[in-house]
Parts: sequence; structure tokens; C-alpha cells
Amino acid sequence: MKPFAPTLTAWYRKNARDLPWRRTKDPYKIWISEIMLQQTTVNAVIPYFEKWIIAFPTVHQLAQAPLQKVLTHWQGLGYYNRARNLHKSAQHIIAEHQGFVPRDPELARKLPGFGPYTVGAVLSIAYDIKLPIIDANVRRVVMRLLSMEGVADTKQDKKVLQFLHTVLPNKSIGDFNQALMELGAKVCRSKEPLCLQCPVSLLCKAFKEGKQEIIPTPKKRIIKDIDAVIAIIESQGKYFIQKRPSKGLLADLWEFPGGKLEQGESHKEALIREIWEELRIKSKTSKHLFDVQHFYTEFRVKLSVWSFDPLSLPATDLTHKFVLPKEFSKYPMPSGSARIVKRLFP
Ligand code: SF4
Repeated sequence: MKPFAPTLTAWYRKNARDLPWRRTKDPYKIWISEIMLQQTTVNAVIPYFEKWIIAFPTVHQLAQAPLQKVLTHWQGLGYYNRARNLHKSAQHIIAEHQGFVPRDPELARKLPGFGPYTVGAVLSIAYDIKLPIIDANVRRVVMRLLSMEGVADTKQDKKVLQFLHTVLPNKSIGDFNQALMELGAKVCRSKEPLCLQCPVSLLCKAFKEGKQEIIPTPKKRIIKDIDAVIAIIESQGKYFIQKRPSKGLLADLWEFPGGKLEQGESHKEALIREIWEELRIKSKTSKHLFDVQHFYTEFRVKLSVWSFDPLSLPATDLTHKFVLPKEFSKYPMPSGSARIVKRLFP
């Protein structure tokens, strides 16, 4: 099995979004970005960050600027205490640390606004100092990797931290920490995680157990069971998948055809009906392959997976395709379909 940190870091280097603060190792700029990113989305931060760096290109310029000017450049980001702390910390850094963000975590921790997250993020990204960081994305990713039940709050952090200490690499720590956050933001999303695109799915316990949608514990509980059938239609080594509509549940994701059982129907009857309704094709033969159980926020689905040998092939277009097993990773799928792919092609 591939080692965790190198696999994740390699994925990050290939897939990381190009963001202005990722083009620098300047601790000052990384610090500013980290403070701005707290409680604000990346897209909203970019213009603020760019204007800020023009107005205050160095820690010296920030320290010397009147507070009024600093607050004006913060306007719109909210939480004005953060801007005040940036200003105060800049003055401390000039007065006590020769104009450099200190490398020592103990010293950094004494600066106004430098909590454990900010210290870890700035020092690991700018100086490659071996410090773990926990934000909401990292907490969720680790809880899923370890299949930790419970709500995503700071009570989980002792165990999350223990795990991070076991996987933190000795170099490229900044990239590793950013990789974990990026994975949480883009792949291991709180809803509809894209496990087939995940570089560490083989190491993920929640994915193995089909629990990624209910870890961390959602606010709403599971309320009902759903029985569904899924058709695997193969032709010349390729498999048929279709894209869901752009609106509604699981919008724009790709899945195998199939659907829910109606009252009194057997799995086989449901399979034949669903495929006729969806694709207007009939089967020569069909055979039960395996079952996959998957947990969603409000229901538990039992997917009965069948091979479906059609009398004629379904039509293909932009939203209906036959794909090779190695191409599945290009098509984002809901968690249940992603687990079927892993069972078919382990
Ligand atoms: Fe998250 Fe899925 Fe990857 Fe597990 S396999 S870490 S749940 S994206």
C-alpha cells in the first residue's frame, strides 16, 4: 500500500489551485492570507489579498501604517479584530523580532492573533517547520480516514492530532499540510465526497465501510432504508454510465443506471423496469453480482448490483457514455457508485 504523506503531497503538487499566496514563501504574505482565509472563502479573499499586498507590501509598511488605513483595507472581510491584531503583531515583529515572523512556535504563539492554527500554518508553510494543523477540512478528512464517529468539533482533536503526528513527513511539511486542507476543500467535501478522485482512498476506513457521508455525524439522522438496483452494462471492456441532471440531488455526478424498487417488486423486476424506463432497452440475461450498503445523511441505501446483458446497446451522447475502468477517475460519482467501481475493479 502506498505511504500516506508522499501520496498526498504528490497529488497536491499536481492538482493544487494556483493561488496568489501559494506563489511565495514570504512568511508575511502567508500570514496575511491565513488570517484572511479564516471564515472567508478563497474566491472572496483573492482580491482583498492582492490589494492588501499593494497597500502594505512588507511587515514594515504594515507596522508603520495608521490603524485607520489598515481597517479600511480590511473593510468587507468582517471580524475587525483580526485586522487590529495584524497591525499589532506587525509592530511586535518589528520591535522584537528584527522584522521577521519568528520561527520558534513558542515565540510566534505570543503574537496577537497567533493561535495554534495560525502558528502551525504560517511556520509550516513558510519555514517548513514540523507542525500539524487542524482546521475544519483537516478534521473532517482525518475523521473519515479513521472512521471516527461523532460530530466534527474540537473534542475530536486529540485523536486527530495523534494521527497527524504519525503521518507528518520530515520535509515539505507546508505542502503536506496544504495538501490535507486542499483534499478536504476539493475532494473530501462535507457533502458528496469524490472518493474516486481521492489519492488516499485505499487508506480510508470510512470509504471502505461506506460511511463517508455520515462521518462526521450529520445533524440530521438516518430516517429510512432504501432498496435500489444498479445495472452494470458492459461492451468491449467499457462500462455504461450516465450523468445526473444539473439541478437537484447529486447534481452533475455520473452514475450507473438503475433506481429504487417499487412496492412488491423483486430486484430483477425492478432492474428490468428501471432500465426500460431510463434507456429503452431490454435484457438478454441478467445476473446478481453483489450488494453494496451505503449511508447517506437521511437514509441508508442497499444497492443490489447486477450485470445486465442488453439486447441492444444504449445510445451514447454527452451525458451517456461507455468508459474504460481506468477512466472512471475522470468522472465524479456519488459515493455509492464510487464504491461499486472499487468492488468491480479493486
Ligand atoms: Fe474522503 Fe473519500 Fe478520500 Fe476517504 S476516500 S478521504 S472519504 S474523499
